[in-house]
Amino acid sequence: MEVTFLGTGTSQGIPIIGSTHPVCLSKDEKDKRLRVSVLVSWDEYQYVIDCGPDFRQQMLANEVSRIDGIIFTHEHADHTMGMDDIRPFFFRQGDIPVYAHKRVLNALRTRFSYIFSSENKYPGAPSVIENELTNQPFSLGNLDVIPIDLMHNRLQVFGFRFENFAYLTDVKTIEEEETDKLKGLKVLVVSALRIEPHHSHFNLEEALEFIAEVKPEKTYLTHISHMLGFHEEVQQQLPKNVFLAYDNLKITI
Ligand SMILES: [Zn+2]
Repeated sequence: MEVTFLGTGTSQGIPIIGSTHPVCLSKDEKDKRLRVSVLVSWDEYQYVIDCGPDFRQQMLANEVSRIDGIIFTHEHADHTMGMDDIRPFFFRQGDIPVYAHKRVLNALRTRFSYIFSSENKYPGAPSVIENELTNQPFSLGNLDVIPIDLMHNRLQVFGFRFENFAYLTDVKTIEEEETDKLKGLKVLVVSALRIEPHHSHFNLEEALEFIAEVKPEKTYLTHISHMLGFHEEVQQQLPKNVFLAYDNLKITI
């Protein structure tokens, strides 16, 4: 299985428009972060988790010419606003499968009614196949994927486990029975926003405590704010086997 980090930044991305924060002005490519998303590929399958406003750029940067579907963690704008740019995939492949919680599908239907409605369809508008997710394993290609219920303050968010790899973003709290689904991971990806506490995201300290509990072989941190600091400096302070993800990083599991 191969995982490509399409974006590793928090909702505004890094640099933030108009910001003079040193991290936003950094010349290090690893300090430039698009909105959070990953491409997960195995055998002949390839799925994107989330479809934020940088989707087009991310598909171009990684030369993605086909996707089998999009899996959504939750409905926040930084995870969904690239939906219109599924058009090239739709034109080549037909209706694109999307997988999401019922609440998220409802939100997408409201925001992108022209994609979801079948009446008076504009010829250039894309179409999707809706797949409603509950907190039960579901099949994707030839794999069973396990959803993990996370809480993003008071909003439910799905994380996903694919065999020995799990992807958890926008998490502040997680129930013990959900943490139990994360035993024996080779690679965990988890969000760590910044140093200071935040109402709806793990800060670095909370993410590291969670990692110490889950004990994956390796962990990559994502959904990073400029307030976490410079990539190079933060990386040096992390425990062994914990890494900051960066845009376009590819890992094999
Ligand atoms: Zn987010």
